[in-house]
Amino acid sequence: MPFTPRPPLYPTELRLLATAPVDESQPPVGGVPQEVDAFPAALRPEAPLPAKAKVVIIGGGIMGLALAYNLAREGETDVVVLERGYLCAGASGRNGGGVRMQWGTPALVELAKRSIDLMKGFAGELGINVWLRQGGYLFLAKTKAVAQRLDRNVALHNKFGVPTRIVSPDEARDIVPGLTMKDCLAASYNPEDGVIFPWPFLWGYAQGCKKKGVRVETYTDVTGFETSNGQVRKVKTTRGDIACDTVVLAAGAWSPEVAKLVGVQLPNEPHRHEILSTEPLKPFLQPLVSVLDTGLYFSQSMRGEIVGGMGDPKEPAGLNMGSTLRFVSRFARALMEQLPQVGHVKVLRQWAGCYDVTPDNNPILGRTPGLDNLLQMSGFVGHGFMMAPAVAERMAKWMASGQSDELFTRFNLRRFAEGTLEREDMIIG
Ligand SMILES: Cc1cc2nc3c(=O)[nH]c(=O)nc-3n(C[C@H](O)[C@H](O)[C@H](O)COP(=O)(O)OP(=O)(O)OC[C@H]3O[C@@H](n4cnc5c(N)ncnc54)[C@H](O)[C@@H]3O)c2cc1C
Repeated sequence: MPFTPRPPLYPTELRLLATAPVDESQPPVGGVPQEVDAFPAALRPEAPLPAKAKVVIIGGGIMGLALAYNLAREGETDVVVLERGYLCAGASGRNGGGVRMQWGTPALVELAKRSIDLMKGFAGELGINVWLRQGGYLFLAKTKAVAQRLDRNVALHNKFGVPTRIVSPDEARDIVPGLTMKDCLAASYNPEDGVIFPWPFLWGYAQGCKKKGVRVETYTDVTGFETSNGQVRKVKTTRGDIACDTVVLAAGAWSPEVAKLVGVQLPNEPHRHEILSTEPLKPFLQPLVSVLDTGLYFSQSMRGEIVGGMGDPKEPAGLNMGSTLRFVSRFARALMEQLPQVGHVKVLRQWAGCYDVTPDNNPILGRTPGLDNLLQMSGFVGHGFMMAPAVAERMAKWMASGQSDELFTRFNLRRFAEGTLEREDMIIG
């Protein structure tokens, strides 16, 4: 793939970017670079695909790769992962690397706790450093309603052994020197949350897959399906067809369009989320800080860069991965409101990816009504990275053993038609 240049053209100070005018009453438009929607055919491997595989996984993001690796651990190695681009082309290569146990519903607290445990052992098991740094997450609340939400979560987290606590504005300033806490009423803090570097996580799972005999096929686009008697029989690709017993749809924000190819309607919607990284600074910021009301978040990576983003309430649905001046301007202003001393720090690079948003902010997992051997694994909004190790572990066990697991009933596609939704409201970005 040719290198894709990213804005800004020159390292640019946050305080200068903050002065760019933004009309917040209008939705954002466009963005650069507009990511290509099709990868060059010249990159397509020439080797033939296998004619048959027990399990075909569509999407080589963190979900597809983690599931494939866990299936192999369970003894199922007749698995092919199909990825239309390079590894890290989707949200898994574009995210903020935040991993936290501070959630609003028991299922996500439990999954995130297990994921972080698995992350601690990742280097030992897969031989690659994912740069996990447990500096905590500090959530800030600007309104009474959000403060109450943080308060309510503490008991839930403590019940699962997660040491979240409410901290006063003064304590928050002790945790992050220089933090203004402007307009903030309350904060919650879990010192065991943290950040990781996303790319080695994918590479680690991909290498682990290959070592165990699982095939990971990049530049291979799924273009259709063959079905009969309520089963998917074949997956059609730009490199030929694969007959299969089971298909897993793990194509992230592209899942609805892939599902459409087999006549299945998913309720997920892609929404662009922009993010940036600054020049590296001496370590000064322990936790990832997030103002829950506005979706601002920022952390310091192991290499010293400030990495951060902020959702835009006016962002329309769509598979747009362009970067805008509007975002850097809004982000710079919101960051400097909480941390004025970083105004002189230069932004080196900005990019964007798509959240895969479901109506209740929870994933879609398990069997597809009407097509029993098509399994869903999408809808991870802005938190799939930190859920992947635990979800993949449970899904592989469930698939290999055939034993029931409530996760695949709770988050089944059927719930949207049945209206049994339990909304997760601890969403940032
Ligand atoms: C800016 C941003 C910040 C984020 N921050 C965090 C964070 O701090 N912590 C966290 O846990 N999560 C975060 N997330 C969310 C997280 O990145 C995602 O939830 C997660 O990566 C989803 O993984 P996935 O495997 O489902 O999707 P993806 O990584 O998008 O993978 C899906 C893959 O399917 C491929 N594909 C699509 N169509 C086809 C086809 N027809 N044939 C073959 N392959 C196909 C795509 O190329 C893609 O590689 C963030 C996301 C964004 C965008």
